[in-house]
Formats: sequence, structure tokens, C-alpha cells
Amino acid sequence: MPKHIVSGLKYLTAVELIRDGYNQKEVAKILEMDRSTVSHYLNGRNLSWNSIEVAEIITKFCPRDFLTLTFALLNDSEKTRIIVKTCSKKEFHATVEDSCIGCGLCADTCLMNAIVLDDLKAHIDSEWCCGCLMCGDVCPTNSIKISEEKNGC
Ligand code: SF4
Ligand code: SF4
Repeated sequence: MPKHIVSGLKYLTAVELIRDGYNQKEVAKILEMDRSTVSHYLNGRNLSWNSIEVAEIITKFCPRDFLTLTFALLNDSEKTRIIVKTCSKKEFHATVEDSCIGCGLCADTCLMNAIVLDDLKAHIDSEWCCGCLMCGDVCPTNSIKISEEKNGC
């Protein structure tokens, strides 16, 4: 079953990417799939609607559960961050306060690879933040603030 759920998640991602203006060749490259497989997916072949329905339910989980479950299913951080970013309906704004001591725990924890350390301070790329809040849980100085953007759909 996990393989079928992964297929469903890739299908939803491919559909969203096509909606965003990517062509099939670009989608295949982003998802590291054969172009013909992407074409089959988009035409509803080689895929059960059950898998798509389950995947749709997963995308509606809270951000942390969506992210951690997707990572557990794929065991591939790059594909996980693409699927989660593409299928997430919410947007988040992340800031790091001056109390940051640059320990790096947040960067090591972020499955979206949204955090880098520069000049002994963490910097978060809100574009890639999915709002899982796992960075905040490990931060010893409570320096991370994540808020949901009101214009997120
Ligand atoms: S909330 Fe923190 S750990 Fe989660 S994606 Fe955003 S920056 Fe990464
Ligand atoms: S975990 Fe907190 S203190 Fe450590 S680098 Fe990240 S924001 Fe800074």
C-alpha cells in the first residue's frame, strides 16, 4: 500500500505543477520520473482512484503529519520537500530573533531544508517552510517564530 500512496502523492504533485505552468518534461525532471509515466499519471492510467483519495487525505493532515508521513513513505528528502511544498495549501512566514545562538539544531531538524546558518545565526527561507514547527521544538532559545500567512489558500 505505501507504494500506491506515494504514486497518489506524485500524481497530485504532477497535477499541481502542470497547473502552475510546468510542462510534462519539466514535471518528469522535478519528480525524477519517466516522461511517459507522468503522461500516464495525468491521463489517469496505472493509478487507482483509491490511491489518489488516500493521498488527498494525507495532504490535508496538519503540516507536521503531512511532512513526516511523506518523508517516511518516500525516504527521500528532496522529493518530500517538493511534494509537500507543491501540495500544501497554506503559506507560512518564518523569522529568527536575535536571541539565536547559532547552534544549528533547527537546520539539522528541518526536513524541508529551509534553514541555513550564516554568520552564526539561523536564517529561514519562508518559501520552503511548511509550518511543521519542528525547528521551534528543538530551539534552546525559543528564537523561531512561524506564522501562517493570511493569504494562504
Ligand atoms: S517550521 Fe521550521 S522545521 Fe518546519 S519547515 Fe518551517 S523552518 Fe523547517
Ligand atoms: S535552534 Fe534556535 S538557537 Fe539554534 S540555530 Fe536554530 S534558531 Fe538559533
